[in-house]
Amino acid sequence: MSADTLAARFRRLIAATGPITVQHFMGEALAHYYATRDPLGVTGDFVTAPEVSQMFGEMIGAWLADVASRSGHSGRLHYVELGPGRGTLAADALRVLRRFGIDPEVHLVEGSPALRAVQAQRLGAVQWHDDLASVPDDAPLLLVANEFLDALPVRQLVRTANGWRERMVALDGERFVCVAGERPMDAAVPAAWRDAAEGAIIETCPGAAAVMAEIGARLAAQGGAALVIDYGYAVPGFGSSLQAVRGHAKVDPFVAPGSADLTALVDFAAAAEAARGAGARVLGLSDQGDFLRVLGIAARAAALAKAAPDRGEEIAAALDRLTGAEQMGALFKVLGLAGPGWPDGAGFVGMAPASAQ
Ligand code: SAH
Repeated sequence: MSADTLAARFRRLIAATGPITVQHFMGEALAHYYATRDPLGVTGDFVTAPEVSQMFGEMIGAWLADVASRSGHSGRLHYVELGPGRGTLAADALRVLRRFGIDPEVHLVEGSPALRAVQAQRLGAVQWHDDLASVPDDAPLLLVANEFLDALPVRQLVRTANGWRERMVALDGERFVCVAGERPMDAAVPAAWRDAAEGAIIETCPGAAAVMAEIGARLAAQGGAALVIDYGYAVPGFGSSLQAVRGHAKVDPFVAPGSADLTALVDFAAAAEAARGAGARVLGLSDQGDFLRVLGIAARAAALAKAAPDRGEEIAAALDRLTGAEQMGALFKVLGLAGPGWPDGAGFVGMAPASAQ
């Protein structure tokens, strides 16, 4: 099905049964988008940290190796990655883990057949899962999710003159426009926010909360540690963070659904709380730049540049892109989690999620 027919299908649906929720619109648009392409890299729509440089996945691998070594656990381990994209992060992290003598089973949670094919070429014998439910529960997890939570659909509520309503997508002629739903939603809004100004928007991500609760429950039951990396905020606020990117440029999220990457910022306070509530220890929340610096990315960059002097400028640019405050260093954050009895892990310097302060 092409993106045109997805838009046509949304139009028929809305004409027949009325506006659909923003969550429904985003969920279907994303399912279509990821099922039909490899969106990553210079020829795709966006570039992620593991595609910028091998240093990113290597630092993740080093963090996991350190935690696993210090845990005292000597048996089997499962490397689990949510939304592994091209498999680049997994390849770089597993190379480092194996250098430390840690050779986990590899389990990839990936919904896209197109990306599973790319991952198979890159990683060889791995096991795929549609979601976490089928990942084995018989050994501790070394779990990684980079730019996964931002791809889960958000639910939006909007304050109207008559109280809170679900934010919906309606039709104005052929155009998709946002409107307020008809049913009162005040009961779904925390008391402190009930009287927000008209037009205020609250965003939640039910899918992210569910995944984080499952990760938390598994870390509590199986042991292990997890790193969840994404762009997002430590303190929740108001506003829609929905954005669409196609060909490395921002586009209107409500034009041509299914043809652009749709994302929302991750609410790290909510993500941490869901995992903690299910039994995991929250190790901390760091800016990506701080996290990578503490793990020694500058030394790794220097070593790579020494080994390949003709690539010095490229390596310096990648280091800046991953860690610079104006680039990915401050907007991207790293949430660290561990099972009870597992060590703290390096790289969490000071900043706790809002709910942990
Ligand atoms: N982690 C990779 C890719 C990020 S893009 C990187 O950093 O380069 C988001 C990834 O999540 C893609 O692999 C996409 O197919 C996958 N994905 C998105 N929504 C998903 C869902 N609901 N279930 C499983 N995988 C999903």
